[in-house]
Amino acid sequence: MKCPTCSGIAKRGVTNLPIELETGLLYVKHVPADICEQCDEVFIPDDVAARLEEIVAVARKQKVEIEVVDYQGAA
Ligand SMILES: [Zn+2]
Repeated sequence: MKCPTCSGIAKRGVTNLPIELETGLLYVKHVPADICEQCDEVFIPDDVAARLEEIVAVARKQKVEIEVVDYQGAA
């Protein structure tokens, strides 16, 4: 895809995402994303964002303080 920020080329890769919760911090590793080669901007595809919301919802329920999860391995 084309980067809307700098018009560079964003290629599919993986990134690590820290997500702030009310109770703490959730760190999600190996999240598939389109990453701009030029400005390093990260774009999360819609299907991945939906999956992340589910992971966050579970973490919220568990009231995690600090948790590291692997996107690929998260149930
Ligand atoms: Zn860019």
